Amino acid sequence: MTADQNKLTTSWGAPVGDNQNSMTAGSRGPTLIQDVHLLEKLAHFNRERVPERVVHAKGAGAHGYFEVTQDLTKYTKADFLSEVGKRTPMFIRFSTVAGENGSSDTVRDPRGFAVKFYTEEGNYDLVGNNTPVFFIRDAIKFPDFIHTQKRHPQTHLKNPNAVWDFWSLSPESLHQVTILMSDRGIPATLRHMHGFGSHTFKWVNAEGQGVWVKYHFKTEQGVQNLAPDVAAQLAGENADYHTEDLFNAIDQGDFPAWRLCVQIMPLEDANTYRFDPFDVTKVWSQKDYPLIEVGRMVLDRNPENYFAEVEQATFSPGTLVPGIEVSPDKMLQGRLFAYADAHRYRVGANHNSLPINRPKNEVNNYQRDGQMRADNNGGSSVYYEPNSFSGPTETSADKPAPYEVSGAADSVAYDHNDHYTQAGDLYRLLSVEERARLVQTIVGAMKPVEKDEIKLRQIRHFYKADPEYGKGVAAGLGLSIPEIE
Ligand code: NDP
Repeated sequence: MTADQNKLTTSWGAPVGDNQNSMTAGSRGPTLIQDVHLLEKLAHFNRERVPERVVHAKGAGAHGYFEVTQDLTKYTKADFLSEVGKRTPMFIRFSTVAGENGSSDTVRDPRGFAVKFYTEEGNYDLVGNNTPVFFIRDAIKFPDFIHTQKRHPQTHLKNPNAVWDFWSLSPESLHQVTILMSDRGIPATLRHMHGFGSHTFKWVNAEGQGVWVKYHFKTEQGVQNLAPDVAAQLAGENADYHTEDLFNAIDQGDFPAWRLCVQIMPLEDANTYRFDPFDVTKVWSQKDYPLIEVGRMVLDRNPENYFAEVEQATFSPGTLVPGIEVSPDKMLQGRLFAYADAHRYRVGANHNSLPINRPKNEVNNYQRDGQMRADNNGGSSVYYEPNSFSGPTETSADKPAPYEVSGAADSVAYDHNDHYTQAGDLYRLLSVEERARLVQTIVGAMKPVEKDEIKLRQIRHFYKADPEYGKGVAAGLGLSIPEIE
């Protein structure tokens, strides 16, 4: 430590004369308003919290790197995937979804799996979950869905009536509900779960040819889960169990790693595949589109400062680089707006210039000003375009590939409405013991629902996925199987 680093200063850099006693009239006070150091200290303290994320509030983060293990340049021109052995620094934030910032890590909930790659062509965010699908497939339903996961307006308690009412009236949720209620609904640690990009994206190669792509991060630690009674006990004993485990593992040099694999679908298959490949409540069968390894992600460094690196980290599925583009997935399209908008509200218009979010390459554009502009704000350089002063210009080669769209502008659902086959396929791939635990967990979760009408509606969905599944839940709830149309 230098002599200067040892010196306590105010935020404006002046030395502090006394940091233990406020300035008072005599030793008894009252306190003098002219003690500006005291005023600044108390006022800054009042402002230490930024708004909590509405979803994914509780999180843990780590730094690491991504290394390419297989050449897939025939599919994408993305620079960070251009060469076997190429390493790109990255940051990840894991999270639960529904709980508040102080809530327990070991609840039954999907886990956010948000990765930021600091590539040489700008940042690339892959903002996924530990599940390959989601509860809904149109962003217009998101605020309603999340309300059901949050607290009742009067009791301020979690509300199973709302949860199952919404799910039973939104059968597209069945696949994700089955995953959530299965053993994988409570991972043993953040290291022992897979990650998924969930949405379909488009990869485009140097010749401008595209393919549809889905991402899978396969844990090298193996999938491990917590039994519900162990999870419940941990929730009481150590609400930060997963956060602590991740920090300690990295601190002790036990670096967790994931293999990144992709599924690749030719563009034309999207018109004929038996499910809509843009519907985020569905997977692409790996028998049709096998996993292809791209690289390996290793987490090898803990954050130095939680607030600066984890709380202020902002991820958006629209943070893309040349060679990676969006698909028409309606949930993804909504997230392209919602995520960046959440960051503008929560962290501010200049969130991308904070150290954790700033790209490693140079940023040149005509955006200026805004709250908390902490860099040089473009200095005296030209601040509009077009201009005659050699300001930065576009690179037309980096435009997204053209994409034909057609159809009447209308508020309509996806054409495909089979919400049952894939949920049933999942049920059928579970062992007998796993199925029994799945049914037991669902029965436990549905018991507090007050209206039989809601329970019967949901049982009908389970039955349609697999009659044994529906019968098991019905028996557990002491209800007879409703008529199945
Ligand atoms: P596959 O047999 O080719 O793949 C099965 C997939 O299920 C693998 O990714 C496997 O991941 C995963 N899996 C295995 N056990 C469980 C479990 N207990 N809980 C959740 N996932 C598990 O079949 P398909 O690709 O045709 O898919 C069949 C069903 O598998 C789907 O309906 C879907 O519910 C589920 N699934 C499919 C995925 C996909 O991308 N196709 C991804 C994840 C689940 P692993 O063995 O590595 O753990």
